Amino acid sequence: MKHLAFLVLLCLPVCSAYPLNGAMKEEDPNMDLVQQYLEKYYNLAKDEKHVFRRKDSSPVVNKIQEMQKFLGLEVTGKLDSNTLEVINKPRCGVPDVGHFSTFPGMPKWGKNHLTYRIVNYTPDLPRDAVDSAIEKALKVWEEVTPLTFSRMHEGEADIMISFAVGAHGDFEPFDGPGQSLAHAYPPGSGLYGDVHFDDDEKWTEDASGTNLFLVAAHELGHSLGLFHSANPEALMYAVYKPNRNLDHFRLSQDDVDGIQSLYGCPSFQNSMVSTQSSPPEPGTPALCDPALSFDAVSTLRGEILFFKDRYLWRKSPWSFQPELHLISAFWPSLPSDLDAAYEDSSKDIVFIFKGNKFWAVRGSEVQAGYPKVIHILGFPPTIRKIDAAVYDKEIKKTYFFVEDKYWRFDEKSQSMEKGFPRRIADDFPGVKTKVDAVLQESGFFYFFSGSLQFEFDPNAKTVTHILKSNSRLRC
Ligand SMILES: [Zn+2]
Ligand SMILES: [Zn+2]
Repeated sequence: MKHLAFLVLLCLPVCSAYPLNGAMKEEDPNMDLVQQYLEKYYNLAKDEKHVFRRKDSSPVVNKIQEMQKFLGLEVTGKLDSNTLEVINKPRCGVPDVGHFSTFPGMPKWGKNHLTYRIVNYTPDLPRDAVDSAIEKALKVWEEVTPLTFSRMHEGEADIMISFAVGAHGDFEPFDGPGQSLAHAYPPGSGLYGDVHFDDDEKWTEDASGTNLFLVAAHELGHSLGLFHSANPEALMYAVYKPNRNLDHFRLSQDDVDGIQSLYGCPSFQNSMVSTQSSPPEPGTPALCDPALSFDAVSTLRGEILFFKDRYLWRKSPWSFQPELHLISAFWPSLPSDLDAAYEDSSKDIVFIFKGNKFWAVRGSEVQAGYPKVIHILGFPPTIRKIDAAVYDKEIKKTYFFVEDKYWRFDEKSQSMEKGFPRRIADDFPGVKTKVDAVLQESGFFYFFSGSLQFEFDPNAKTVTHILKSNSRLRC
């Protein structure tokens, strides 16, 4: 309704001979705010007010559309209530024009070890609360990249962090309480890489004021080279969203994709450092060991993941060498020594099994409500764990292998099919049990059993090749 009323207002000056600026201001108090917002964050030229006259061909309408697109709103070109609501929310002070997820020219740090310095403090919080908010915010990025940070107490650090009010010497004055909360500069020397917080905000450790950790994590994303994201789930979304889980904060896949496009995945050594407190290392599994077996194998968004102990190898079709990672580097809440995993690509979910529990992950995010017990899928109580699982895209059904039998689960009806379990030997002759992992590719099933891999043609009902289990890993 609001939306309609506004359309009428917008139309009036177009159809009348009144001087536009005066008329607009009187009739819609939002117009000034919108004008300023577009000038500040979308490079709208200051002399473009008059062009409201020209309806949808005007630069203002184009800018509104650009803004709606950027903020993930419905692109109407009109100042509907959703758009006004977003405009009125506090946000980051970095403009939204430019590249999608990185700054134009993709500036990034040419080194993986960076220094930071907290130059001054806000009176709103004790110093150690500021220190730990910044440390936690750096860790968010450290966990998903090869980057590491160390603190300096004097001199020029790569990332200088400060609190300031109003004009503070960088031609980007802060605006008092609300609206712009902070800003940061992309990687580089001098002012570049630095983070400034608007000290006219009320900085807090919780969500009662402006949460320092959340804003710091966002601004540090800029310091590392990430630009705003159009994805409202992303930390790098321009608008401050206090309703995030502050205790178990996780980056969205969009943020992870963005930062890894600049710096790549966490290096193996890095991951080791972050999990130092865990039990003794079982030793890195040797990729090309002829006796290598896997715990589970699954696809994930076009890549293949091979799970072994606490590790996974990640093999993407566009990279020659598989990458070794700790499972905990991707999903800190997941256990090691997994039993089975499969991807339901239609849901963009990978289901991961261990013992009588299973988890659902989308990208690097473990979905809420998991783990669940495997018996809700329809397994009898005597089944304590499953050995392998694979999703058949063609028929939208999942095969579960347990010892010498298998079950089939209908993903559409979310129920176990009648007539199962059946004997693996009856329907997959030639395949050795027990099965460790199964993959489906180009119409074939690949059964991993110990150090061997059986390529099975389901139409001919026969094993067509026997390969080493690590044959796909460039050994
Ligand atoms: Zn920002
Ligand atoms: Zn500044």
